[in-house]
Amino acid sequence: MTDWNIQSRAHACRACEAPFANQQPYHTLLAFERHELVRQDVCEACWAAQFSEGAKDRKGFISHWVGEYQAPPAAPPEAIQKDTAESILRKLMEKNDPQYRAAAYILAVMLERKKILKVKAQLRENGGRVFVYEQPKTGDVFTIPDPELQLNQLEAVQRQVAALMEHGLETPVEPAAYITPPEQPPVAALAGGNEEPAN
Ligand SMILES: [Zn+2]
Repeated sequence: MTDWNIQSRAHACRACEAPFANQQPYHTLLAFERHELVRQDVCEACWAAQFSEGAKDRKGFISHWVGEYQAPPAAPPEAIQKDTAESILRKLMEKNDPQYRAAAYILAVMLERKKILKVKAQLRENGGRVFVYEQPKTGDVFTIPDPELQLNQLEAVQRQVAALMEHGLETPVEPAAYITPPEQPPVAALAGGNEEPAN
């Protein structure tokens, strides 16, 4: 079963292990191996020599694309920045908490509209759709299942996303639709505990 995850771009060729230079083109190959989505980044020479022939015929092949390697910046600029839709999406994916599944999907759709993420592939697994997004600047790949939102759930999820955008993940934000009712204390405990259950 494909879960949501982030697969970062490698900093070296998977085949020959030569580190990628800044702005060097590389090839990404996505495939399913033992029900896991596996990403391989290889240099052009290795692609031409070992991968290009019959890449699409490989077992589990999903997608292939060419990217340009960007050397990571010296200091992470995110540290001083306010949360953005992208940083929240990354945090949600790290948390892997089912209550944020729909929010992650909505954020990915928002980021795609802003051209911050690109859809690279769309898979079908166990009857559900899974979207593979790429962040072209970092080369990170996000795997996000379609939560198959019903129209009547959309508003609650949009409220959840708005709250996340405003407050980040620090304050728990659970719109009404997601709040489970508080547990009722057992009746027996209230009554003293010695009563027979009524028929
Ligand atoms: Zn190589």
